[in-house]
Amino acid sequence: MAITRRRFIQIGAAAGGVAAASGLATRWWGLDRDPIPDPRTDGDRVVATYCELCFWGCGVLAHVKDGRVTKLTGNPAHPLSRGMLCPRGAGATGQLYDPDRLKRPLLRRAKRGEDVFEEVSWDAALNETSRKLEDVARRHGPEAVALFTHGSGGVWFKHFMKAWGSPNIGAPSYAQCRGPREAAFTVTYGTPLGSPEPIDIANARAITLIGSHLGENMHNTQVQELAEAIGKGAGLVVVDPRFSVAAGKAKYWLPIKPGTDIALLLAWMNVLVAEKLYDVDYVAKYTEGFDELAAHVADKTPEWAYAITGVDPGLIRASARFIGSARPASLIHPGRHTVWYGDDTQRERAMAILAALLGSWGRRGGYLTPAKFPLPGYPLPADLPHRGGATAAVDKPKAGATYPLATEVLASGLCDAAKPGHALYDLKAWLVYGCNLVQAMPGRQELVEKMQHLDFLAVVDVLPAEIAGWADVVLPEATYLERDDDVSAPAYRKPFVAIRQAAVEPQGDSKPGWWIAKELATRVGLGAWFPWKDAQEYVKARLAQKGLSYDELASKGVLLGAPQPTCEEEGAPVGAATESGKIQLYAKELKNLGFDPLPVYRPQEEGPAGSFRLLSGRSPLHTFGRTVNNRLLAEPFPENEVWLNADAARSLSGFEAQPLQSGEKVVLVNQDGVRSTPVRAKLTQRIRGDCVYLVHGWGQTARKQRYAFGRGASDAQLTSRYKVDPIMGGTGMNVNFVRIERAGEAA
Ligand code: SF4
Repeated sequence: MAITRRRFIQIGAAAGGVAAASGLATRWWGLDRDPIPDPRTDGDRVVATYCELCFWGCGVLAHVKDGRVTKLTGNPAHPLSRGMLCPRGAGATGQLYDPDRLKRPLLRRAKRGEDVFEEVSWDAALNETSRKLEDVARRHGPEAVALFTHGSGGVWFKHFMKAWGSPNIGAPSYAQCRGPREAAFTVTYGTPLGSPEPIDIANARAITLIGSHLGENMHNTQVQELAEAIGKGAGLVVVDPRFSVAAGKAKYWLPIKPGTDIALLLAWMNVLVAEKLYDVDYVAKYTEGFDELAAHVADKTPEWAYAITGVDPGLIRASARFIGSARPASLIHPGRHTVWYGDDTQRERAMAILAALLGSWGRRGGYLTPAKFPLPGYPLPADLPHRGGATAAVDKPKAGATYPLATEVLASGLCDAAKPGHALYDLKAWLVYGCNLVQAMPGRQELVEKMQHLDFLAVVDVLPAEIAGWADVVLPEATYLERDDDVSAPAYRKPFVAIRQAAVEPQGDSKPGWWIAKELATRVGLGAWFPWKDAQEYVKARLAQKGLSYDELASKGVLLGAPQPTCEEEGAPVGAATESGKIQLYAKELKNLGFDPLPVYRPQEEGPAGSFRLLSGRSPLHTFGRTVNNRLLAEPFPENEVWLNADAARSLSGFEAQPLQSGEKVVLVNQDGVRSTPVRAKLTQRIRGDCVYLVHGWGQTARKQRYAFGRGASDAQLTSRYKVDPIMGGTGMNVNFVRIERAGEAA
């Protein structure tokens, strides 16, 4: 079924983004010296590129008139956008023309963290950066420099680090996000899922979302596919303490007690096994450990789970039967932000095992076999000068590592290694590309202490996010609409390669990441690693090796590879990349490492009396804190609110004389006495009474982001505690509790 734009908007923007998706309003928020062009205006030329308002990488057609971007539309030929952008992508001109952008390089001129800088030339900023890095390398070795990165432009800085000789490259998108699921699927199927995850939402007949609020969590293609699947009659099962937008469209909503998901998953497996609703032939042919699993779940009945989860046993049984009835096109969505309680790899293992019982791995409507567009890297000479350095990154998988099944370097591990006395070595300098660690990492106070130990901290970013205030040098990057970059060619159901090309000139003195990394490399004697004149020449050289035309790619925006079978129904073999070639229901690998070979439910710690578990999530209008200063996106979603159950609000201590009203400002105070900035209360029946909910990214303390400063509250600030996943090192963050105070009450 073709999905209409209207239907996409209904699914994706029911939380309030309709205005943004259907044509962004252009009213300017009192800062109209540099007004945004009317985004409904067609341009006099169109430039094909790919989006970076989040990291999904949708194909964009940028309409340009008189040197200004006037409108952004989805590239119909691009497999991820399919002709549509999500509200954030459509609002990227709000970032491009943000009056608060970093436009000149900055050098710190007061104590670190006081956010006092002087504008300097690029020469001065790059010379200072290279001098400090050289100094750290001379005294501690090149591996004492770490790179934090998020986003496609990070590729140039990763390349710089390779030349520099440090393996310490990490992204919060792993240990603070997808990591547990990658570890769990690697244990079970022998391969991580990666991003975009290879799932076939469009052809699923049952779609199960566990704490994943697709539609509010706006990954364009997935939301389009969700609308398509619902249009074809698919049923949704939503497990969430909050009645999310997806829950509003569900056949079954299971309002689970937070922290008990493993018990529910075991109970579902109990029903599937007891009632023989699992795929008997598939399990016999492709998996190992079914007998152990069956014995393990034999007593995990829905009645057993009811006492733990609070979900009615009839509802558990009915939803399990529905999930089983739709197999193999019964998709258990693996989720993305999976760091909740520190036992997250085990919860994701339970989801992976459930998917195997349903026979959905390698089948239509389940998990697909993705393919990558076959494009070689840049043909670099083999004998490049190398600085050498350590071979092991902090917390990179290695024998005897703290987290044996981590598949990537942990950003939290890199933070820990900035504390003097780290077991492997001390990190002395950080390069931070495009990630605001202040909002991304738990334990803000610890983070600040670690940053104070550094000899040097440089930030490359588009906006003066909080992390920039802690830098010694700030290097302003051009937005994605102003720069050429490397191509995008992720593994996906259709192999493709897409181009990023500048639509307009950079604002102020901002520069593309490729230029910054190349200039830095040249200054430290590693210019031979960047032999290309610019990103365009780099991409041309990559394409030329396959005889592909740069001009064709530049004009179309995307080239498609030969279609390949992606599931058993199309001829792709079902299989696992594990040692035995079988799907590991019972994981001997975990047992050998001292972990539970099958997921076990263990109770989570409860909060103090009168407190609520703090949960967080996404808005379809924003990508974390990256977009909260974007006036176009702020118009339909100006700040976050704290969701609080209306009945629970009536019994709040301290509000007896004057009950809390919806829209009133409150302060959240966590178990360690950390206080949020004031935030409006949203009193609703759409959330359980034992938790509260905030959209992540708000509560910004960076004054130079003038719109966002002081709006809403930050869940990250309140995440002073976290529980580390012993299997892969993810930082479980849903272990904080808050009480509510009326704003203005004394601390
Ligand atoms: Fe851009 Fe939205 Fe696609 Fe993300 S999902 S890349 S913000 S259009």
